[in-house]
Amino acid sequence: MNDDLRERALGAYLGFAVGDALGATVEFMTPREIKADHGVHRHIIGGGWLRLKAGEVTDDTQMCLVLGESILAHGTWSLTQFAEGMGAWLKSSPVDVGNTCRRGIRRYLVDRSVIGEPSEWDAGNGACIRNLPAILSTLHDGDLFREITLDQAHLTHHNQLSDEATLALGQMVRAVLHGGGMADIQRLALDLAARHREFRFEPYANRSSAYVADTLSTVFHYFFTTDNFKDCLIDVVNQGGDADSTGALAGMLAGSLYGVSAIPQEWMSRLNPAIVKVIHQQVDGLLNWGQGR
Ligand code: MN
Repeated sequence: MNDDLRERALGAYLGFAVGDALGATVEFMTPREIKADHGVHRHIIGGGWLRLKAGEVTDDTQMCLVLGESILAHGTWSLTQFAEGMGAWLKSSPVDVGNTCRRGIRRYLVDRSVIGEPSEWDAGNGACIRNLPAILSTLHDGDLFREITLDQAHLTHHNQLSDEATLALGQMVRAVLHGGGMADIQRLALDLAARHREFRFEPYANRSSAYVADTLSTVFHYFFTTDNFKDCLIDVVNQGGDADSTGALAGMLAGSLYGVSAIPQEWMSRLNPAIVKVIHQQVDGLLNWGQGR
């Protein structure tokens, strides 16, 4: 495995967790409320409505770890393995679970179905935020990337905008890990916004909600108007709203582009060491996954 690929893949996953931990403090707050409480929110201090310890992550990172663990459990993709993993996670009393995720996992636990009916109400960001392990494990196979992405997504979110967002973010990280740059990400974002106007990010509508189009517009806006990891994450989480998810996804994009060494040491040293360790293991496992088939 080449060092540059590993550096960028680690940047994506650790960047994701850092963004989750940083953003959770100000989730559901408005920019004005954040300013009143924190000035500019720039330190991993925990708290927020979930009352997290500093350096703890939320459902965003936890669901990624479940997907990664499920992929690594076998040499081939098993949706049932993932559904079982999500069921076990729900029963473990996680700090937070989105409503659509909870409903989909419960449906699986009741009737073992791994896909829900298509629904216009499933356009939250729950499927999109947990897809990074699918990306890292299928860099060598675009068809398999698509298969795992849509499989894992439809367990809880069966919605075209959710699918489009999840696939597009995956294509962006794939492009960067294959040696691309900011221009490639920009082209993919503009393509997505041209197909579905909901994803337009310029001019930015100042909305950071759990609606997947608002989430991505917010992430794109701050990713394209900054030129380094730290500024990108500080700007995106200070927009508030679904700040742990926008922080996580911005951290994933920025971490994949700028590399793990661009993540500020102050933030890395705050992140729960147990999470950092599992992410390292998953990155190595996922990058090598399926190569022997
Ligand atoms: Mn969360």
